Amino acid sequence: MKRLRNIKIVATLGPASDDYKMIRALFEAGADVFRLNMSHGEYDEIRERHAIIRQIEKDLDRPIAILADLQGPKLRCGKFGDKKIKLKEGQDFRFDLDEADGDKHRVCLPHKEIFAALKVGSTLLVDDGKIKLQVKECGKDFANCTVLVGGKISNRKGVNVPDVVLPLAALSKKDLKDLEFVCELGVDWLALSFVQRAQDVEEARELVKGRTAIMAKIEKPAAVDAYDEILAVSDGIMVARGDLGVELPVQCVPPIQKRLIRGARAAGKPVIVATQMMESMIESPVPTRAEVSDAATAIYEGADAIMLSAESAAGDYPVEAVTTMNNVAIEVEQDRTYREVIEASRKLKRSTVADGIVSAAREIAETTDIKVICCFTQSGTTALLTARERPSVPIIALTPLTGTARRLCLSWGVNCYFSDTVDRFKMAVVSAARAARASGLATEKDYIVVTAGVPFNVTGTTNILRVAPCDERLIFSSDQ
Ligand code: PGA
Ligand code: MN
Repeated sequence: MKRLRNIKIVATLGPASDDYKMIRALFEAGADVFRLNMSHGEYDEIRERHAIIRQIEKDLDRPIAILADLQGPKLRCGKFGDKKIKLKEGQDFRFDLDEADGDKHRVCLPHKEIFAALKVGSTLLVDDGKIKLQVKECGKDFANCTVLVGGKISNRKGVNVPDVVLPLAALSKKDLKDLEFVCELGVDWLALSFVQRAQDVEEARELVKGRTAIMAKIEKPAAVDAYDEILAVSDGIMVARGDLGVELPVQCVPPIQKRLIRGARAAGKPVIVATQMMESMIESPVPTRAEVSDAATAIYEGADAIMLSAESAAGDYPVEAVTTMNNVAIEVEQDRTYREVIEASRKLKRSTVADGIVSAAREIAETTDIKVICCFTQSGTTALLTARERPSVPIIALTPLTGTARRLCLSWGVNCYFSDTVDRFKMAVVSAARAARASGLATEKDYIVVTAGVPFNVTGTTNILRVAPCDERLIFSSDQ
């Protein structure tokens, strides 16, 4: 199950991927991180998927990251039972507060605030902007609309109201409950939807109390404007193109994607490109050429991860979608232009000892026959800094901390392995040599570069670099 690419793949779980066999097949096809979308699914289902992922992790002895994605103050319509309703251009359609299943005339929109803020003439967009309605008449608990652009509508589709400012808190009541639920369950990443300012992330961090890393989803114009401040207080970023392309004109999304990726890379924080990456594969076993090209663009831009949403959660071809991404990544990363682009975009500003060590490790590995860069890491910092270098040589991260290993599964090029706790550097070298051999990335005849921070139990002290043989007898016969 050796990964032959650096970019990571995030697969969202849902009804199409909720048993052991399918989730394991997704992992084996290349999914490195599984996303639990809190907008869908009951707690029992989420708990079960979580347990299955942990079981697979145990069975395969490889860390797997779980990303829980909070709905945020996203507006969604209610349910239609098992039905999909087709809305036709010109017809009337009503949103109200009645929780009964919807039909072709009406559906629940369970947000009082929205009715208070709507005006005659306001636009409502459903399902990432695919369906467009205009308000004809509204009151404190309903809005009668005309369908301007029709389409299929089904359970809990997203609703955007771009021309109305809604007074909503960063974390809804549901988010607060979900946050506690997933933190107790034990997830590695928590994604926050519709972040508007750095303070939203800081508020969540107080509630999380160190139990997970925090990712800010950039999907509001306000978040794009406040990106630097948001990035500074977040552990990772998601370019959430679905809502971003609804809240802003779609043509603004590609330049914003480039800017967000560049910022996150410079900060050494993982960045995911999300939404509609293999959209047609929800119903088709093969992608469109444009989708392949879009995934390739994110890879050329140096993103840490690309993500599948409905393709893996509710589509007909979840495994094929992961396989497609995997194949695109392998091909692109072998292209000479890819290395040139990645190297040209490497940030050269280095100011700390740690930056110097990881940069030296890359240079030594790349200019000699060294097969792997191994980093010993507690907090994950050494591995993140190494990944920021985007070396052409594979990275192995070794850590005794389960949480660190899992969190790093999202980062570009980092192959994570659990290690025993070590208290001497020589033992770290032995353990690195073993991992390099076990991974198949190096043989007994090869050499590796090992970086670490000593003393081991103090985080953020990358200060050692050693070139070591993979042959343990040679390590032991050295005098260190
Ligand atoms: P969502 O976020 O799938 O939770 O809406 C991603 C996006 O908006 O692109
Ligand atoms: Mn979104």
